[in-house]
Amino acid sequence: MTLSLTDVTLTYPDGDARLTALDHVSLTVGPGEFTAVVGPSGSGKSTLLAVAATLLTPDRGTVTIAGRDTAALSRGARTRLRRDQVGIVFQQANLIPALTAAEQLEAVGRLRGDRSRAARDRARTLLDAVGLDAAKQRRRPHQLSGGERQRVNIARALFAEPAVLLVDEPTSALDHDRGARVVALLAEVTARHGTATVMVTHDTGLLDRADRVLTMADGRLEPA
Ligand code: ADP
Repeated sequence: MTLSLTDVTLTYPDGDARLTALDHVSLTVGPGEFTAVVGPSGSGKSTLLAVAATLLTPDRGTVTIAGRDTAALSRGARTRLRRDQVGIVFQQANLIPALTAAEQLEAVGRLRGDRSRAARDRARTLLDAVGLDAAKQRRRPHQLSGGERQRVNIARALFAEPAVLLVDEPTSALDHDRGARVVALLAEVTARHGTATVMVTHDTGLLDRADRVLTMADGRLEPA
């Protein structure tokens, strides 16, 4: 599926004025394409992801997912599109306190009516791939480090096999080797499943895995 933003402008209220967080941004990410976005803090990267995820509605411009103009959908249809097709990894891992790491992923399967052995195996394989061993997979979020929770969060997003994957600073709590492994996994899943992936990162050491690197500056998106 293709994610497309066309001439998107988004402003926030700023006292009596408006602050322009996205300034005529256009971006198309095709199936299997891994796009990285870099840029200083406050340049609009998180806002870009929120608009792409249809969590924020732009003042101007369009966001299309799989050729559908998301503004033309009913609120319910947009929520379903987001739930079924869009994977969002925020910096803060939003894990369920009562569930173990493995159960965080299995719960995604259950929501879709999949309680199969295969789903459990896939959860384990993904957690292995982000470097959580069997003992850690049985731990609850409060028994894991920040970096481990971040990796569970990423594994959970990948488990859902979204058509569009939006990832905000996936390596912020990880050392270089673990960060590199996670980004390699994102690249691999993107290619294998034909995902349209956008990753926001500060870590310029990890950009060699991306098909394309763009820079955000003052709400504008430019080739790096
Ligand atoms: P980045 O992710 O690159 O750090 P953001 O998208 O978070 O950038 O922010 C872009 C600009 O919009 C910044 O100037 C920020 O202060 C402002 N901003 C972000 N969120 C809000 C909000 N909810 N209300 C008002 N201003 C905001």
